Amino acid sequence: MDLHEYEAKQLFGEYGVPLVEGEIADTPEQVRLAPSRIGHRVVVKAQVKTGGRGKAGGVRVAEGADDARARAEQILGMDIRGHTVRRVLVEEASDIAEEYYFSFLLDRANRTFLSICSAEGGVEIEEVAATRPEAVVRTPVGPEGVDQASALAICRAAGLPEEVRDRAAQVITRLWEVAVKEDATLVEVNPLVRTADGRIIALDGKVTLDGNAAFRHPERNPFVDGADTDERENRAREKGLNYVRLDGEVGVIGNGAGLVMSTLDVVARAGEAHGGVRPANFLDIGGG
Ligand code: ADP
Ligand code: MG
Repeated sequence: MDLHEYEAKQLFGEYGVPLVEGEIADTPEQVRLAPSRIGHRVVVKAQVKTGGRGKAGGVRVAEGADDARARAEQILGMDIRGHTVRRVLVEEASDIAEEYYFSFLLDRANRTFLSICSAEGGVEIEEVAATRPEAVVRTPVGPEGVDQASALAICRAAGLPEEVRDRAAQVITRLWEVAVKEDATLVEVNPLVRTADGRIIALDGKVTLDGNAAFRHPERNPFVDGADTDERENRAREKGLNYVRLDGEVGVIGNGAGLVMSTLDVVARAGEAHGGVRPANFLDIGGG
């Protein structure tokens, strides 16, 4: 299960990962009131479960109450890659000196966790990874996990400036705790920033929790209940159906996950001969 940024940051906060102050809002009027509590300069951030919000215009700086309200009006209701923005996170605007990238993810092929770190984080990370892969350092994490020393080694390998390594490593050890204790398959911070006054802060957060481990975390049920995923996915869940929205054109209904998966493959394959027509959904209405 993917979490929203504000949910990821709730977890981060519980593990002592440094954050900026923020509050969640679902109307422009609520957003207007936020700067009086947070500060004059805020960032209004679309809460949708997809990346690239910044590039899509879903992350905007505002100066004061009225500007914050105006930004919220622009962002609420926006469509970002097929996700309608219903909620925004209003955050203290950070004075960014440098942006780094950091993540832990489950590397199934190698049966291990992997840490990925770069001194060149931010919205262009995919571009950096594609054009200069050496700037993105991948380090497998062994069963012993991550302590301050191994986190420091990661920071060094990624070329983080010497003066921030200690603090960045401490943040990394806390992110590792999030990954392990919450049974996450992804914990990503992009950007992890150094502020002008020398603090290291997680400005973005993306967490995927392993649904197979959900039974171990009943306290995280609110994340499931409050998940404003696709409306059709919610309706399907209420009816006990297994529905996943995809972005193609051909609707697929089947009996049993295996049959539906196979049908998706067949439709996708046949669709190649028709200009790339693809499945619009996965809908398993139950075997037997
Ligand atoms: P996404 O990854 O979906 O584009 P981010 O949360 O990473 O969304 O925001 C995109 C960019 O906006 C960041 O790389 C950062 O430069 C800027 N940004 C995000 N939050 C803040 C903040 N609180 N203060 C200042 N800048 C921010
Ligand atoms: Mg980001």
